[in-house]
Amino acid sequence: MSEDISGRGAVTGKTALLGLLGWPVKHSLSPRLHNYWLAQAGIDAVYLPLPVAPAALTTVLPALAQMGFVGVNATIPHKEALCGLVGTLDPVAAHIGAVNTVLFTSDRSSVGSNTDAFGFAESVRQAGHAITSGSALVLGAGGAARAVLAALQDSACPEIWLTNRTPERAAALAQHFPGVKIHPWESWPQILPQTRLLINTTSRGLNGQDDFTVDCTAMPSHAAVCDLVYRPLQTGLLRAAEAAGLLPIDGLGMLLYQAQASFKTWFGLTPPVDADLRRFVLAGMA
Ligand code: NAP
Repeated sequence: MSEDISGRGAVTGKTALLGLLGWPVKHSLSPRLHNYWLAQAGIDAVYLPLPVAPAALTTVLPALAQMGFVGVNATIPHKEALCGLVGTLDPVAAHIGAVNTVLFTSDRSSVGSNTDAFGFAESVRQAGHAITSGSALVLGAGGAARAVLAALQDSACPEIWLTNRTPERAAALAQHFPGVKIHPWESWPQILPQTRLLINTTSRGLNGQDDFTVDCTAMPSHAAVCDLVYRPLQTGLLRAAEAAGLLPIDGLGMLLYQAQASFKTWFGLTPPVDADLRRFVLAGMA
């Protein structure tokens, strides 16, 4: 598919509007991704970057509804605040405490949902790992960890361990996810022999900085290692997993599948996630 979305035809008065609320948004891959799918499906709509400062969100959200937007995605720092701003909050978003997808209804109200948990679970499933097959160890207790914990519990993961550099934050998060066990940050490599799925939800490894140096050979032979960081796609943690013969799962899958679920929320269509799409999105990271 052409990189030029003008191939979709001219924007007219009938063109539907969607976008991404964030601050900043200029590095986001979502406009590229959604405009690809819109063009592919022949839908007369455009997906725009919407840089909105935190203080302006309360004003902007109802304004987008009044302007007839179909829906929006949200990224940092708006996901949590949107929980208190949407007209209706769906149960998954309420459980996670964050909204990443908004659908504006015909009466100009808004429904907030969260597709990040689905995106994570689907990327793991598509990579060939069964979450039900054994214990998961989650590194990090920030926003991404909330979606991962919700996905693991909803997917009936038999045992979930959580560890974070700042222990108070892990303890606070575990309160929202009863049954999740805390492990001290200093010694999480000790439980690798019991870990079937290791997930990095911290920002370590982002832009190649402060990458994990872990010996994954201690993990069971059918284990998988997922890194939510996708800049770069191949992190030090994933290289260690590969070197140990384990299944590496990169962070691009979660990004693509959460977007796929958002698209379905707005248009009722499930757009394809395939090698062409991955190539197209990766070209936008260069
Ligand atoms: P966040 O809410 O700011 O949380 C950051 C987490 O990283 C915290 O647990 C923090 O620990 C930890 N951390 C940061 N620097 C650390 C270090 N040097 N050593 C140990 N822990 C460290 O961020 P987030 O929204 O959860 O995002 C986290 C990562 O996930 C980012 O790289 C983001 O790009 C990625 N992500 C990917 C996807 C996807 O679709 N693939 C989706 C969402 C997020 P403390 O609590 O101790 O500070």
